[in-house]
Amino acid sequence: MTTTAEMRGDSLVLNGTKTHISNGSEADVVIVAAKSARGSIGDQPGLSLVLVETERPGVTQAAIEKTGMAALDTGRITFDDCVVPQSNLLGAEGMGFVYLMSFLGVERLVLAIYAQACAERILAELIRDCDARQTPEGSLLAHQSPRFSLAELYSECAVNRSFVDQCIPQVQEGRFDPKQACIAKLRTTATLKALASLAVQLRGAGGISGDSGARASQDLLDASVQSIWGGTSEILLDLIGRSMASGL
Ligand SMILES: Cc1cc2nc3c(=O)[nH]c(=O)nc-3n(C[C@H](O)[C@H](O)[C@H](O)COP(=O)(O)OP(=O)(O)OC[C@H]3O[C@@H](n4cnc5c(N)ncnc54)[C@H](O)[C@@H]3O)c2cc1C
Repeated sequence: MTTTAEMRGDSLVLNGTKTHISNGSEADVVIVAAKSARGSIGDQPGLSLVLVETERPGVTQAAIEKTGMAALDTGRITFDDCVVPQSNLLGAEGMGFVYLMSFLGVERLVLAIYAQACAERILAELIRDCDARQTPEGSLLAHQSPRFSLAELYSECAVNRSFVDQCIPQVQEGRFDPKQACIAKLRTTATLKALASLAVQLRGAGGISGDSGARASQDLLDASVQSIWGGTSEILLDLIGRSMASGL
């Protein structure tokens, strides 16, 4: 994070660039996490959360071209001596990291729910198409290799669904462990990517051509995004691993 929020009198002055921000090229109001003079812990700088109306002077928004998630606006926002009143500061100066951590778990769980929903849709369509694809010995499901591959991912999907489902009431009851969200996002996105890849393979040439191919190829690209946003799988593994070591 390079964007800074400097306190000057009754104002905050923002400088820096935020990239790959969902709805970033069109949003009217954004919450900016920026480095601040206060709130540092050890060598980690303090962070402040600042509400910014994007029509303010010094704000530039631009759309980013991308191949995955075509329907989602993803943008870059640049702040060049952008002045906002101090009243736009959310909470206390320098406490942004604490605020971010308090809802990041829920955001990751929401992303896990989305990944799970995508996986279940891809799985249902793939089983339907494999059943419809006839070979001399019967449908594709009559063959052990594709049947086993599907059964593996069907089982993973069922276990993931159960795990995600048991996280939801924990959030509602205010006793959610953020590590559970890391596990949920890690596992659901891994299964989603494996399914999206199998959905191309088991359709043969139809996995990359015609209407079924357009959908399967797009699913594969979109699935790739899901193990990146909201914390990459590598970062999630690191967080889970660290919490194991500290006995949390
Ligand atoms: C479609 C889309 C929408 C997004 N929307 C938002 C948004 O609304 N708001 C927002 O703030 N961000 C958003 N992001 C940004 C997203 O959170 C980042 O892309 C993501 O956190 C990865 O950071 P990076 O792209 O800089 O990759 P990098 O950090 O450059 O990572 C590259 C690779 O290195 C690995 N890596 C990096 N650091 C480590 C480490 N310490 N240990 C081990 N491996 C590591 C990563 O896991 C990854 O595999 C969005 C991204 C996308 C693609």
